[in-house]
Amino acid sequence: MSKQNGHMESKQTGDAEESHQHQAGNSTDRDIDQWKHKEPYKVHDTERNDNFDVKWEGSCHCGKVTYQLSRDKPLAAKYCHCTTCQRLHGAPFQWAAIFHKSDINFTNGVHELGWYDPTNKDTSHHLPCKVSCAYCRAPIMDEGRNMILLFPPLVKDINTKKAREAFRPTCHMFYPQRVAEFKGDGIVKWKGLDNASDLLDDDENVLVKWEDGLDEDKMKAKKREFLEFTEKEGEVKRVKKSDE
Ligand SMILES: [Zn+2]
Ligand SMILES: [Zn+2]
Repeated sequence: MSKQNGHMESKQTGDAEESHQHQAGNSTDRDIDQWKHKEPYKVHDTERNDNFDVKWEGSCHCGKVTYQLSRDKPLAAKYCHCTTCQRLHGAPFQWAAIFHKSDINFTNGVHELGWYDPTNKDTSHHLPCKVSCAYCRAPIMDEGRNMILLFPPLVKDINTKKAREAFRPTCHMFYPQRVAEFKGDGIVKWKGLDNASDLLDDDENVLVKWEDGLDEDKMKAKKREFLEFTEKEGEVKRVKKSDE
């Protein structure tokens, strides 16, 4: 499978880090109707106290598809500048927020969803796949094998300070393929997938070269030279200036 098509999930194995999706191989076939009963499509009966704590709500453009989210903030949020994302979204880049499949509850339109499998270029429900409203075609999320990558512009009140903070991107992926500039935004930039490619500065100079066989821990140690972390381990506070 070509590299171009093959970057949708990060190499990291942790659930929280399943980052991305138009990826090659290992598509899962599902029985034609099985999906309706499984997360993320399993509809919670909130009136019967189905234990779904609503923190955010979202809807597609036409309103046929609506959903709730039960998590205060995504596990991570990222900007992807790869050309596949640009083309599939008709946008300069993809903004994706990672959630567990159990974090979403479709309150309307679970049967109005359409799928697209970018690996095979067909509309079957093979994972990972893109999920959109079948009527207005608004992209809703990418469904990976373990996680969903939700598109925050559909979230109600996303243009508030609280939402911008909650959905703040932690990195740029495939930064050299960008069609807009982000110089000086203080957000970590990767040549490809996060933590599995070269770490770049704003001008695409390589700060940490990715080498085959480099594992996540080693990459994290190397990153430390260039990034400042918050007290909460793992969260990047800012990118140190190269000349510091
Ligand atoms: Zn719609
Ligand atoms: Zn992408």
